[in-house]
Amino acid sequence: MRLAQRMSRLGTENAFTVLAQVQRLAAAGHDIINLGIGDPDFDTPTYIKEAACHSLAEGRTHYSPSQGIPPLRAAIAAELTRTRGVPFSADEIVVTPGAKPILFYVLLALAEEGDEVLYPNPGFPIYESCIEFVGARAVPIPLLEERDFQLDIKALQRAVGPRTRVLILNSPNNPTGGVLSRGDLEVVAGLAQRYDAWVMADEIYSRFLFEGRFESIAALPGMKERTIIVDGFSKTYAMTGWRMGYGVMPAALAQKITQLIINSVSCTATFIQDAGITALQGPQDESDRMIAEFRARRDLVVAGLNTIPGIHCRTPGGAFYAFPNVTEACRRLRLPNAEAFQDRAMRDAGVAVLARSNFGRRNEGETEEYVRLSFAASREHLQEGLRRLRGFVERGAE
Ligand code: PLP
Repeated sequence: MRLAQRMSRLGTENAFTVLAQVQRLAAAGHDIINLGIGDPDFDTPTYIKEAACHSLAEGRTHYSPSQGIPPLRAAIAAELTRTRGVPFSADEIVVTPGAKPILFYVLLALAEEGDEVLYPNPGFPIYESCIEFVGARAVPIPLLEERDFQLDIKALQRAVGPRTRVLILNSPNNPTGGVLSRGDLEVVAGLAQRYDAWVMADEIYSRFLFEGRFESIAALPGMKERTIIVDGFSKTYAMTGWRMGYGVMPAALAQKITQLIINSVSCTATFIQDAGITALQGPQDESDRMIAEFRARRDLVVAGLNTIPGIHCRTPGGAFYAFPNVTEACRRLRLPNAEAFQDRAMRDAGVAVLARSNFGRRNEGETEEYVRLSFAASREHLQEGLRRLRGFVERGAE
């Protein structure tokens, strides 16, 4: 099959491949503890589902404005003004089917051949994939385990320059759970201003912060006009399958992103947008309970991992992932790398985890091995997963 050249530059997100593998094994009767997927194991709160049903019953089943319905954009602007500490208006909001399209559209709109886009690595694999797809150069900025997976600031300072078009941030980070400090945000802001670059701040996990108050780079002086915030409903309201997210950006760029929406998906489903207004304006206690539960699971998982020989794990400050270092465990098991660990953990222990290689290419000089475990499983499942991993590492090492 002859494909356009650009397709050779498109990557993927392997979490979906592993999910399909888990479902196949489970259907064949295997007992798999799935710690691979980043999809909250909670149901969407009832008040949100009822709002969608009500909207459907009212016949809200037609096209709606491509940028998003005005009352939803107003509700998002109010929410962002409250949570980010800087004022936003509805004309700065663009609603899309999931947060992912914003990443794609923004890179399509801003970056091209000759440009460089900096991104956190390890990171959400779609960054690297989309940067290369649009023809720009993907420049990884390492996240350092010894800095609790904050940016390698020296590497950032070396990498940034006049070709830098966009700096991607993701705090709290997938897959490491790392949270950027105010100091790091200030360094990034200073560099973005010096080189006249955009910052795309993927803040989809901003509500999943286990200590302190969330800080957005958009609130730093001079940053709102060069920042695109990416956020959405998938994680906060356990709505991954509904497909609704948004970008927050200067109004002129929002118009261009809307043009990309008109050319691709036309709009986000109207009744789902109605439910989005209810999600934002309704009681937040179910989300708060879910986030508190993730925090308890984090403590359980980190403590459990740190008792397994050959595994050590930093305490993630946010998101719902643990990113243990399994270098020594791989050595004990005579496995060449974390990918082999992922494979064997699935086959021998019935535990699905994702190797570091699913989150961007290996950084220069990177020698350690990591896997990502998601807390999107009950405490019982997490405990059983940990028990199996311990058995697997100890047995294999005999
Ligand atoms: N950004 C990050 C860092 C994510 O982890 C995810 C989902 O896993 C997304 C964006 C995409 O979110 P959505 O499902 O709303 O498209």
